[in-house]
Amino acid sequence: MSETPPGGPTGGLPTGDGENALEFRDPEKARAIADTLAEIGEELEDPPATVMHVCGSHEQSIAKFGIRSMLPDTVRLIMGPGCPVCITDMPEVDEAVALAESGVTVATYGDMLKVPGTSKSLDDARAAGADVRIIYSAGDVVEIAEEEDGEVVFFATGFETTAAPTAAVVLSDPPPNLSILSAHKYVPPAMEIVAEMPDTDIQGYLAAGNAAIITGSGIFEELAERHELPVVVGGFEPLDILAGVTRLVEMIRDGEAGVENAYPRCVTREGNEPAQEQLWEVFEGVSGQWRGIADIPDANLVLRGEYAEYDARERFEIDTASLADAGATGLADDCICGDIMSGTAEPTDCEMFGEECTPDDPVGACMVSSEGTCKIWHEYGGRPDI
Ligand code: SF4
Ligand code: SF4
Repeated sequence: MSETPPGGPTGGLPTGDGENALEFRDPEKARAIADTLAEIGEELEDPPATVMHVCGSHEQSIAKFGIRSMLPDTVRLIMGPGCPVCITDMPEVDEAVALAESGVTVATYGDMLKVPGTSKSLDDARAAGADVRIIYSAGDVVEIAEEEDGEVVFFATGFETTAAPTAAVVLSDPPPNLSILSAHKYVPPAMEIVAEMPDTDIQGYLAAGNAAIITGSGIFEELAERHELPVVVGGFEPLDILAGVTRLVEMIRDGEAGVENAYPRCVTREGNEPAQEQLWEVFEGVSGQWRGIADIPDANLVLRGEYAEYDARERFEIDTASLADAGATGLADDCICGDIMSGTAEPTDCEMFGEECTPDDPVGACMVSSEGTCKIWHEYGGRPDI
């Protein structure tokens, strides 16, 4: 992400490979896997096989390395609701803007600044004089609160990868002038909802390896069983993605459901249990809107009652009346982010793509985050070849 380093909304691109990353970019190995994939694709009973990944970090690698150009016609790889920036709902942005305009310091990840609220973004509020700070990790908000006399609100966004560090901040006896405006989201319930959408017709999931570092691959077992789907946890280097997709298509061909971990150098079945304990100690899942997609049960993470003293929604009367008038979908007119994140449309299907909507002047949230599909496609020119 441009302004959000590893540990930001997505946790960046945790390859876990360090200096060995190139090993997972070997073109010859990539071509060999692609050949295998093509052979398996020919054996499919009902092509094309549609597999969905749910992480902007995956989409970044797929676009950057031209991975779609290596896939046979028998395999479709689509992006789902993988960007916490993209799915942060307008009323949540409105809350952050209203707080900033009321005079408190609002700190958040850089990618959130340009995300449009109903009528304003945090960037607009900052341009008008509000104190809006960019942070690079959850711990930064503690330093800001220690330096400031006034109230500091952490507009906390992102999936479980960043919710766990937010929880750690809450449990660290933070300064009394710090509170949390949580827009954190939890991915597994969204995967359930998207799997049930009739138009999407997903036959397998490439699950996000970065979130699974926290939750473990075992978290997807019920989903796989309930929907009789294969789920493969995948890393972010080209070979990780190609190998993960190949295994998925193989499982689709064989009618196999279940979970496989294709990212064992970073992910275990159990995940990071201390981080999970902190996450669920501080947060609970409630129903809430994901921008443009749906109201999803148990997928919005809010602070538990025991931690209400750190909950900005308890500490402040947040008046969004002058800002809020979101439509039913919470999207700007004609923006099809919701369809893109549900896997039923591609960015180039949007009439505003690259015209009225650009990274410098985004209309929809998918054009804001460096892991948003529209911005990635704009950056890499749609479907690049390698
Ligand atoms: S892209 Fe958006 S979706 Fe995905 S991990 Fe980031 S902030 Fe994410
Ligand atoms: S190009 Fe812009 S307006 Fe169109 S779907 Fe993407 S973000 Fe929305």
